[in-house]
Amino acid sequence: MSYRPGRHFLQIPGPTNVPDRVLRAMDGPTIDHRGPDFQALGKRVLSGIRTIFQTKHPVIIYPASGTGAWEAALVNTLSPGDLVLMYETGHFASLWKKLAERLDLKTEFIGGDWRHGADPAAIGERLAADTAHTIKAVCVVHNETSTGCVSPIADVRKAIDAANHPALLMVDTISSLGSIDYRHDEWGVDVTVGGSQKGLMLPPGLSFNALSEKAIEASKSSRLPKSYWAWDEMLPANANGFFPYTPATNLLYGLDAAIEMLHEEGLDNVFARHQRHGAATRAAVAAWGLDVLCVEPKHHSGSLTAVLMPGEKGADALRKTILERFDMSLGAGLSKVADKIFRIGHLGDFNDLMLVGTLGGVEMGLRIAGVRHEAGGVEAAMEVLASATEGQAQQAA
Ligand code: PLP
Repeated sequence: MSYRPGRHFLQIPGPTNVPDRVLRAMDGPTIDHRGPDFQALGKRVLSGIRTIFQTKHPVIIYPASGTGAWEAALVNTLSPGDLVLMYETGHFASLWKKLAERLDLKTEFIGGDWRHGADPAAIGERLAADTAHTIKAVCVVHNETSTGCVSPIADVRKAIDAANHPALLMVDTISSLGSIDYRHDEWGVDVTVGGSQKGLMLPPGLSFNALSEKAIEASKSSRLPKSYWAWDEMLPANANGFFPYTPATNLLYGLDAAIEMLHEEGLDNVFARHQRHGAATRAAVAAWGLDVLCVEPKHHSGSLTAVLMPGEKGADALRKTILERFDMSLGAGLSKVADKIFRIGHLGDFNDLMLVGTLGGVEMGLRIAGVRHEAGGVEAAMEVLASATEGQAQQAA
């Protein structure tokens, strides 16, 4: 393939654009992972990552993709045959359920239409009916990357407490961490699962389990087999800044830089920026006369927007046109919504002009591919970007 000038637009909802500062930070020597320089780095990232999860409790860092951290959350806390209540927000919730079943757990799905976040009332009702407390964990995806719907985790916690149920609460924040406000401690989450390749602006390859005291306690009696994922191997080593096996040193350099960058911008500003880009993107979609997949405004995502194709099909052909003509990758519709939607990622290292470029590419693609739409989406988004301060857009979102 010949050289394509200019930057590729990586507007899938993760992996996201890796900023030069992170790339440069990773471009250092791989050092002795049992030496003093590594220890200083290990201590810094293990403590810094807590601030991103908004927790004072330990956060485990795995050299693995997010799927590994899903598995780690379950195998560290549960025993064979335990029942897990999960919520069908979309494709990723369905994959987590499949993974749980492969681990010899029983699962129960609260059905969803892939157009809303989880309904805390439905979770509360199911838990209230479980008077024998056979349900051992409730698993919810915070930002469902396949749909662009956000689940109200604080309300899920309230529903669990109102039912007076002892189940652990486990939350997947893979596409919301560092993009959408998320509070592990305040919301009483027992295990939060995160990944490096989205809001954290890193390449794929790191994933996380943020823990609670209750989760650590549960891990002491959990009987699912585990070795690589075992928290009781990680926690003592981490206490000194080390890892029980060879860590992904260069990714940790990147993580160190990314944490610093998120704090330089300020987490509240990071969240407001994502809300504002979500609001501008939805303004564009509305002006095109198209619909976003997520129908509940309270659940609209700040990290991605899934757009329904008019006439139900043709999203993949549109994405192909946009990739070939404008060198921009958009997210595909997954499983149930394959070819019916395309997803615009607006998370991570991203700013107003990148969004205008992204939406310009989509609007030109719609025109070239002959998709029924109105012109003026980019104009509508620019209106939002030019007029709204971050605070105003947050209120409007
Ligand atoms: N959960 C969510 C919400 C995701 O978006 C993804 C990946 O996109 C995963 C889990 C799986 O993570 P990974 O592909 O890093 O294993």
